Amino acid sequence: MLSDQNLASAEAAPLPAPALGEPYLLTPGPLTTSREVKEAMLRDWGSWDGDFRGMTSELRRRLLALTGDTKDEFDCVPIQGSGSFAVEAMLGSFVPRDGKVLVLANGAYGLRAAQTLVYLGRAHTVIDKGDYLPPRGDEVAAALDADPAITHVIAIHCETSSGILNPVAEIAEVVHARGRKLLVDSMSAFGAVPLDVSEIRYAAMVSSANKCIEGVPGFGFIIARKDELEAAKGRSHSISLDVHAQWAHMNKTGQWRFTPPTHVVAAFIEALRQHAAEGGVAGRGARYTKNRDVMVAGMRELGFETLLKDRWLSPIIVTFFNPAHPNFDFERFYDLMKDKGFIIYPGKLTVVDSFRVGCIGRMDEHVMRRVVEAAGQSLKEMGVDTAAPPEAALTERAKLAA
Ligand SMILES: *Cc1c(COP(=O)(O)O)cnc(C)c1O
Repeated sequence: MLSDQNLASAEAAPLPAPALGEPYLLTPGPLTTSREVKEAMLRDWGSWDGDFRGMTSELRRRLLALTGDTKDEFDCVPIQGSGSFAVEAMLGSFVPRDGKVLVLANGAYGLRAAQTLVYLGRAHTVIDKGDYLPPRGDEVAAALDADPAITHVIAIHCETSSGILNPVAEIAEVVHARGRKLLVDSMSAFGAVPLDVSEIRYAAMVSSANKCIEGVPGFGFIIARKDELEAAKGRSHSISLDVHAQWAHMNKTGQWRFTPPTHVVAAFIEALRQHAAEGGVAGRGARYTKNRDVMVAGMRELGFETLLKDRWLSPIIVTFFNPAHPNFDFERFYDLMKDKGFIIYPGKLTVVDSFRVGCIGRMDEHVMRRVVEAAGQSLKEMGVDTAAPPEAALTERAKLAA
């Protein structure tokens, strides 16, 4: 994954700067968008007008094309709000009221899915792996065998709170083999990590405008099997989060049911065009992987250690342990990085202190080299001569399965 060959391969020309004087957002969304994406918002659209209906239809078509659905078995339903609104819409629409969900949690987003089910009054059970251990196929299989009442499983594709890339293919296989249905929160992975319907069986997945497609925040989207969409009729607890109703209305009229985020949609169409121009999921994934490899190699040279072993590192966001050095202070480090043009992200681990650096958004390896330089410079300014983590962090990491 972090091979020398990778690092030595030919350098791409630098991406144009997305904006002058703005810091790069090394965060998992909202993230740094291109100048063209921002410029696409400098115009107003009537939501009922044919031009905007055409944009909605283009958006749905282009997103579906990223799933490899050659049999026309799936459809795409955008829904207003942040990503969590779309997760709630998915759970409320695809899980019957008498269904039961197995939630695979290893961080904040898995736990939020479980909390959403509490609000929805849907029966559920949780496999909670803690801060960062991956849920594996064999334990999912055992849980399904032990509880025939479970109808659905929800998995988090990339758990953004640690940056771990969960083994969804392995999970999808055991869920399918046991006749249950898989729902995937691919919020922070879709568009950069393959989730091809011919390889990974799922009933529905969800993502949002402001992650790997590099749009601005304002809506999420659900991609689901058409038979699941049909079956969702009348099931939702919520008028605004009813996926079936939005789908049926959009198919009939070409319009969103309630006021759409018109500017966000315009920006997203531009973002989808840039995504295609970069080579789609493979091209986007390759740039993010390079971003990660260059950044992680440089940070390790400074003495920083990643929470995860290479095998589990996503090309989306990486968690680093805070250095053990007594002069290290995260708030100070954050401010020093920001002064140099980079917004980093606090960690979300409960056991040891950490911070995160995102690899997604409109930036490339040239930017990531500057990130590493800025980190080195910031350490110097704090009087930290090594970024090595405390012993406790490494003991913690040793628990991680190979
Ligand atoms: C970003 C994200 C969400 C949605 O978060 P919002 O703040 O509601 O946009 C859900 N799941 C994962 C894995 C995410 O990364």
